[in-house]
Amino acid sequence: MELVHHGAAYGVTGSCHEVVVAPGLSLLVDCGLRQGRDAPAGQGADDRLGFDASGVRALIVTHVHIDHVGRIPALLASGFTGPIFATPASVLLLPLTLEDASSLRSNPCADLDLRLRRQLVAVPYGQWQPLPAGLGQLRFQHAGHILGSALAELDLPNGERWVFSGDLGAPDTPLLPDPASPQRADLLVIESTYGDRSHQGRAERGERLRQIIERTLRDGGTTLIPAFAIGRTQELLYEFEQILHQFRGSPLWRELPIIVDSPLAARFTRHYRRLAALWDEEARQRLQAGRHPLSFTELVTIDDHRDHLALVNRLAQSGEPAVVIAGSGMCNGGRIMNYLKALLGDARTDLLFVGYQADGTPGRMIADAEPGQRLWLDGAEICLAAQVHQLSGFSAHADQDDLLRFVRQMGSPPKAVRVVHGEPQVQQAFARQLRQLPGVGVVSCGSDG
Ligand SMILES: [Zn+2]
Repeated sequence: MELVHHGAAYGVTGSCHEVVVAPGLSLLVDCGLRQGRDAPAGQGADDRLGFDASGVRALIVTHVHIDHVGRIPALLASGFTGPIFATPASVLLLPLTLEDASSLRSNPCADLDLRLRRQLVAVPYGQWQPLPAGLGQLRFQHAGHILGSALAELDLPNGERWVFSGDLGAPDTPLLPDPASPQRADLLVIESTYGDRSHQGRAERGERLRQIIERTLRDGGTTLIPAFAIGRTQELLYEFEQILHQFRGSPLWRELPIIVDSPLAARFTRHYRRLAALWDEEARQRLQAGRHPLSFTELVTIDDHRDHLALVNRLAQSGEPAVVIAGSGMCNGGRIMNYLKALLGDARTDLLFVGYQADGTPGRMIADAEPGQRLWLDGAEICLAAQVHQLSGFSAHADQDDLLRFVRQMGSPPKAVRVVHGEPQVQQAFARQLRQLPGVGVVSCGSDG
């Protein structure tokens, strides 16, 4: 029994872990796209498979973020015909994610949709699913990260239980149930994206969102929020519905449009609505009370590209108040770019970052810029006049306390832990914390090599 990492051993992207049961007999947990520093030198994103998958008999998908599924087309192109196990929600969302990422693809898989349909197997949370080729069995539990996200428990042929955390969400992520700690693990493979820090102010995130938006409304103009199409956009809509529910009568909020300018985000939002059975207790209670957390009257969706361009022009000229949510989340492409180019030079504009802006992205460049500074954005020069705000508390990842609690709340401490999916120094910092927990066995890091 051997664990081999084909990504996310040194950084946070390209998750792909191979469980080798015997020579030429293995299964994969995730098959994600490597980006930025995790990609081989000189590559923005690398969707080539990069390893021999001829022994792989099954793929387990923890969730549909591109850094966990982006190399699936390459895996299929390499001749993989085995089952792809995922939760029912992930089975629905996966084709959308891969379709959206098709522009990144260097090895298009012509019959991708067809093959996905043939090979995807939906496994509901909490049910044991036999694996092919005598590889054992699999059970998913809630990971609370995005809709459909799961951790995977594997009972392997040698009698050991290995648990892969996938990405773990914060306990109070809107719409989603909290992550469920497993009972036991001979080996726990755990993510560590924020293994060295704690998120502040998650409980007040909605209240601070309201305060910032109200401040931006008073001076008119557009409030721009760059956000990822899956997860973050729906969390924002959920918070906006709550604010509108409370303040609908107030002059400031009356008839303020909340605009989602992203066909992809709109499609994901429709799926989120359809899958309301998977929402957490709070969200379902709102539904029962006759509210519509993801489809309120002030919500406007822009699909057509001409409508998008017309709206950018209109907002730039009129300065009428509006909230616009558009991707990409780090401003390195997508419809948010036209808004930034048209509106960042206007002092009435407010730009609100709700997510992590990675080093080297345009989002980070804008977040770090001084007022009046000249910026180059997508071939255009802009003098920054807009106000830039940062709102923390919207992270889709567990922080250090959450991760440690996840381990402490296991029925018995894990016999061994492998820390992955974090910057090397973060993995080390989190491993040091884990070693102090009573009963936890050997702790190693993917970045140790
Ligand atoms: Zn993720």
